[in-house]
Amino acid sequence: MTELFQQGSLLQPETLEDWTPEVVTRVIAETLETWGFADYGARVRWCWNPRLRTTIGRAIFEDHLVELNPHLLARHPGEIRGVLIHELAHLVVVEHFGFRESPHGPRWKALMRAAGESTRATHQLDVGNLRRRRKNAQPRPHRSRQAQTLSRLEAWWRRLSQRGW
Ligand SMILES: [Zn+2]
Repeated sequence: MTELFQQGSLLQPETLEDWTPEVVTRVIAETLETWGFADYGARVRWCWNPRLRTTIGRAIFEDHLVELNPHLLARHPGEIRGVLIHELAHLVVVEHFGFRESPHGPRWKALMRAAGESTRATHQLDVGNLRRRRKNAQPRPHRSRQAQTLSRLEAWWRRLSQRGW
């Protein structure tokens, strides 16, 4: 990775293994700097969370923590940067503007654009066998994209309300 840094800018890492802690940390720092929130870098943490199944990444506000799904992102390493920045943007919005802002609202979108990333809120990746296996598995009703977006928002607001919001 050292060679990459010596070239002055971070190249696109191509596999999960390329995303070493140094690279992830560097992308976080560069992105925060782009946004003018460099100081926040000292508080932001991140980790791979192998317990995540179909959630590709999430932001834990109270811990200033970004969690990334190693199973899903190993299959789609090209998404790592986008997911990392997506969750980082959530942390920054909440840190600086509080919970008044809607999760994927204008401030979040502005950060994503400034970082050169997509403003779509849900992923469309094949989660195949990553779904939690259930005892007495029943066939699952097909969920539309809209339903997935809704349940993601619901999960978001549930998390907020658990924090007393
Ligand atoms: Zn989001």
